[in-house]
Amino acid sequence: MLKHRCIALAVSLVCSVVLPSAWAARSLVITVYPHDELASISDKQLHDDFFQAWLDEMRSFTQHPIEVIFQRAIPGLTDIDYGAMTSIEILDAFTHEIDNQRSVRPFSFMNKDLLLTRESYDQSGLTFVAGLAQPSGNTAIASMTSHAVPGHEIGHMLSATHENAETHFNGWFCETYMVPNRVALRSNCYRYSDQNRAAIADYLKYNSN
Ligand SMILES: [Zn+2]
Repeated sequence: MLKHRCIALAVSLVCSVVLPSAWAARSLVITVYPHDELASISDKQLHDDFFQAWLDEMRSFTQHPIEVIFQRAIPGLTDIDYGAMTSIEILDAFTHEIDNQRSVRPFSFMNKDLLLTRESYDQSGLTFVAGLAQPSGNTAIASMTSHAVPGHEIGHMLSATHENAETHFNGWFCETYMVPNRVALRSNCYRYSDQNRAAIADYLKYNSN
């Protein structure tokens, strides 16, 4: 009996040591910078339309703490004249300004910055670029051309890949977040493939300490 009590005590001590470090994991912070052209759309509306389904998906496979915050009207960041630039130039300009303006923030791969714009990029004929990200990096640009674009670009920043994307069928075809060339007739699954979920979970675990 005494022996059992000792074991129980030992287990509870181990738990009490392990739990705090798990809860102390650094939050993944997605800072969204709505372009000034979106001044008439509230943060709540943008959150509901473009980030809530993504948050629900993330919380379905990871316990990692996640925050989505909005930053508005920051000269140099939210007023980039992106219509006259290529997607690569926009991402470079945004990244450069983030490096300049957020330099007091300690560097962490848990801080992701996303410029949100109304229009797409590199429009030529029937093709356009909906978003662009630094793979496994900290900055991305995303347009509002599809509700899945922010989730796609955030996926890139968390090491998800096109190669591991999937098309699912649940009575109708849907595309997981990382499908690169979207087909209009298919819906959004609003989820990552199992392989991309695993890659994202590993990324969060590896970079959050
Ligand atoms: Zn992509």
